[in-house]
Amino acid sequence: MGIRSELGPWPYLGYTASRIDRAAQCRTDDAALAKFAKDPAAGCYLIGGELVVLRNENGALQPLFAMDEVRAFDGARETVFLGLTDGAPRFGIALDVSAVEPLKTRSDLKLTDLRSISVHGLVGAEHLPPLAEAKAVLGWHARHRFCPNCGVPTNAVDAGWRRDCPSCKVQHFPRTDPVAIMLPIAGDRCVLGRSPRFAATMWSCLAGFIEPGETIEQAVRREVLEEAGIVCGKVNYFTSQPWPFPMSLMIGCHAEALSDKITVDRSELEDARWFSREELVLMLLHKHPQGLTATVPHAIAHHIIRRYIEEGGDVLR
Ligand SMILES: [Zn+2]
Repeated sequence: MGIRSELGPWPYLGYTASRIDRAAQCRTDDAALAKFAKDPAAGCYLIGGELVVLRNENGALQPLFAMDEVRAFDGARETVFLGLTDGAPRFGIALDVSAVEPLKTRSDLKLTDLRSISVHGLVGAEHLPPLAEAKAVLGWHARHRFCPNCGVPTNAVDAGWRRDCPSCKVQHFPRTDPVAIMLPIAGDRCVLGRSPRFAATMWSCLAGFIEPGETIEQAVRREVLEEAGIVCGKVNYFTSQPWPFPMSLMIGCHAEALSDKITVDRSELEDARWFSREELVLMLLHKHPQGLTATVPHAIAHHIIRRYIEEGGDVLR
């Protein structure tokens, strides 16, 4: 098919295809964890709030630090055992945000946010899943220092995969917030929206948090109706993407649009409108006559759109 060759190979979906064996059975094994920490092959990712600390080696950026190197950094908070990459132990360590500030002046380090690292390919793609894992779980620790049940400070246990309350004894586990992200389709047209936060030319899929008590399909229909006034019927799951901003799972779907008139919820979106498949191709190729673009290749919305370009209405079969 011409369109496929024109668009080139499928891009990498950011933060997916993790090569990490999480070795969850080791999280409660203190002897194994101590051995991992001393392993010369062990490596550690350093996260300070929204920033990732990278080593700058003559312009080449490297995200892994040796465990000895990490001890030289001030302000270490929680450590999480991420798992094993080809047998090599991998950890994530949170640095206090106040300890990150002085690091910004060091020429041997570069501090940047994970989105930029992914979009600009600043490190090898194999590092993105463990960085996402580390950022999400360490971000959870930062936001869950106190027991939501009784309010006292909690303690991290199980190599960073649980927090226990010493008072009411409730155990708290890292959470992932499900977000439905979808493309409503009617034949050769589909609906995209624009958030006021987007770059001026960019359009993307509609999306929203799945609410308690909802199925994925119900959340897709509700979000499309709320944001764009379009009634949807059939919903097909496509793929998912960890989205550690701060700790979401994007659940990508195609949806059958049953109505035509768009009513934009201006509190959520700047605009929403119908796009033809031909327009989508031009947007992905950066050849749209009005200069319109779709989201960056590392984001799931790009993949949802690309699949629709290639398969058309068959995505709803
Ligand atoms: Zn408690």
